[in-house]
Amino acid sequence: MIHQPIRKRFKLPKQRKTTWNEIFNNPKDILIDTFETGTILFSNKYMLNLSHPYAKELNEEELQVPVFSHLITHKTYGHFLIDSGLDRSFQNDVYGNIEGKNKEILWPLKSYQEPNQDIASLLLDMNINLKGIFLTHLHIDHVAGIQDLPKDIQVIIGKDEPFHFFGKNLYQDHFKGRESIHEIDFSQAHQIPPLESCINLFGDGSLWALFTPGHTKSHVSYLVNGKKQVMLLTGDACDIKLGFERCVGPGLGCFNVKGAQETLEKIKHFSDQFPNIKLCFGHEKID
Ligand SMILES: [Zn+2]
Repeated sequence: MIHQPIRKRFKLPKQRKTTWNEIFNNPKDILIDTFETGTILFSNKYMLNLSHPYAKELNEEELQVPVFSHLITHKTYGHFLIDSGLDRSFQNDVYGNIEGKNKEILWPLKSYQEPNQDIASLLLDMNINLKGIFLTHLHIDHVAGIQDLPKDIQVIIGKDEPFHFFGKNLYQDHFKGRESIHEIDFSQAHQIPPLESCINLFGDGSLWALFTPGHTKSHVSYLVNGKKQVMLLTGDACDIKLGFERCVGPGLGCFNVKGAQETLEKIKHFSDQFPNIKLCFGHEKID
């Protein structure tokens, strides 16, 4: 059985019209730390749409890339994660505890993790009391680590993001023991050009959810507006730096390749307009 939690609405603070200039002029006491919870080895054709004209001279090759989990520390609201990375079952097996008769075909990735590299162990070491976790999307490499996190924390995703992509042919029962999940409803969002639906998650302008569909149906990117640094976590709206530089969106395995390309173009436009924003791609961090 694949457990599916009840979908509830994530209660949003009051949203109001604003601009990125106004937001960046009022940074907040919020910090972000990025952890590598392991690596995945797979073909670049999933990370880059190799049929795009801008990808013309790129060849198919295998790449080994990190799998992130980000810890957010907000002075008032406490600790939250953005994505959970790989769970500790990947320490023993490149498919971890993924189930399904066609898993090797439908999940053509090998995952690797060292002992104590999973986010649950890292949080325990740091004595962190987590309030919740925001997810970019529900692909295994972003949600797997949730299995070992406390069951009473709030789990937040984009509205209507599918729980599983191939049913019983490929799944990981990562929501086992969780009663509910909270969905961000972007129909209540304001547009803040050049991005479309943007949600002020805490209401104080410190953390933003950006609707970035294409890689999956309801993919979400996050922007941390901190006094120390402003960082855009693209999630898999852009997997690696090369895709961003060439403006080539994610490839095979996307819900909608064309939509994913349009999303990347908007993110690129945003980054060009605000070059001081640090970028962290789904599977590559820029220092
Ligand atoms: Zn990913």
